[in-house]
Amino acid sequence: MALIVHKYGGTSMGSTERIRNVAKRVAKWHRAGHQMVVVPSAMSGETNRLLGLANELAPAKRGDAFDRELDMLASTGEQVSVGLLAIALQAEGIDAISFAGWQVPIKTSATHTKARIESIDDARVRGELAAGKVVIITGFQGVDSNNDITTLGRGGSDTSAVAVAAAMKADECLIYTDVDGVYTTDPRVVEDARRLARISFEEMLEMASLGSKVLQIRSVEFAGKYKVPMRVLSSFTPWDIDINEEAKSGTLITFEDTEVMEKAAVSGIAFNRDEAKVSLLGVSDTPGIAYKILGSVADANIDVDMIIQNLSKDGRTDFSFTVHRNDYAKTIDLLNNKVAGELGAQEVTGDAKICKVSVVGIGMRSHAGVASKMFRALSEEGINIQMISTSEIKVSVVIDEKYMELAVRALHRVFDLDQDNSTDAI
Ligand code: ADP
Ligand code: ASP
Ligand code: MG
Repeated sequence: MALIVHKYGGTSMGSTERIRNVAKRVAKWHRAGHQMVVVPSAMSGETNRLLGLANELAPAKRGDAFDRELDMLASTGEQVSVGLLAIALQAEGIDAISFAGWQVPIKTSATHTKARIESIDDARVRGELAAGKVVIITGFQGVDSNNDITTLGRGGSDTSAVAVAAAMKADECLIYTDVDGVYTTDPRVVEDARRLARISFEEMLEMASLGSKVLQIRSVEFAGKYKVPMRVLSSFTPWDIDINEEAKSGTLITFEDTEVMEKAAVSGIAFNRDEAKVSLLGVSDTPGIAYKILGSVADANIDVDMIIQNLSKDGRTDFSFTVHRNDYAKTIDLLNNKVAGELGAQEVTGDAKICKVSVVGIGMRSHAGVASKMFRALSEEGINIQMISTSEIKVSVVIDEKYMELAVRALHRVFDLDQDNSTDAI
């Protein structure tokens, strides 16, 4: 008997018919003798619908008070899901009980809309499991030290599931979604994308942080920190497939750098359309300019990703960086109002229609020339590179958003990701 956590995403919970299927699958695992904790997301489209309602009522106004209510509102989607799933399981003849985050409790920081899980008290959940019940816990939400409901950021149910699995030392956390695993790139963008039978934890972390929304990055961080065995698999296989076959399907996130994986220089391609580029032209090139610019951006709670400072000419230089697209207007305003004057900048400009495309692979550690191969492929497609950043296992470029799909497809091809020779995919 094992303790298993299942997570079901929005599409998997998208209708009563699908919820019934989830219940039948969970019942199968329970009847096989496992202790089951299930973490569902809101039904597909529901979180967007709820946030849309808030936007209708307050298109411009934002702030801490607004964010608190946004969490109160958005968290209801998951509460509906747990109630329905518990009812569906009971209808299958299984004892099931649902909990909202605060009932567990899942304690988080107080940063509304992007709270971080701080602790999980598993006593109540363990008690119910010991009584033979399936326990269903809301994804995406927790409670802060004021007893206010918080949410964990979009895609946060992945993190709820892995955190529950970590806290309970579960034998495995299975993330059921609408694709049958982690692919070399988003299969909705590249038809030839291939499912990876395994991906290293480090690569998954990079892929998630560089924009692959199949897993929320915090969930991968949790899995790494607490060594939670984790697998991504499809909720659309027939619920009654053989449980042993199901347990081996999808993509395993592995903590070993196996030799097989070392063979490929590049394992996957990630892309992200959520960023925007901001440039300050002609700032005086004196000690402290980077601090002056980025310090004031950080003070406004805006995260900066890529940064470039050009060579200076006649004592002046250009300075560019990227921020989340939602922070674009705020950043431009901030620079125009405060920083540009102080630094004698000639112009504040930017571009919100950019995207970041990255190639990722632990094999890069032992393969030279990945960056040049990437740049050549982009130049052959006539795509101009605006910014570059590299780390030990990734190369990222910023390009015009309109070339994103072209770039991803070209890179997928030149790094042979459509071939079956780079990884041990089945
Ligand atoms: P869920 O609602 O189950 O959490 P998400 O929409 O958050 O599902 O994540 C699954 C989606 O992630 C897939 O439908 C796919 O389009 C997208 N995706 C992006 N990159 C990848 C990738 N490398 N492998 C698989 N899916 C990916
Ligand atoms: N329902 C939340 C969202 O849409 C959390 C999740 O699906 O993981 O972002
Ligand atoms: Mg998701």
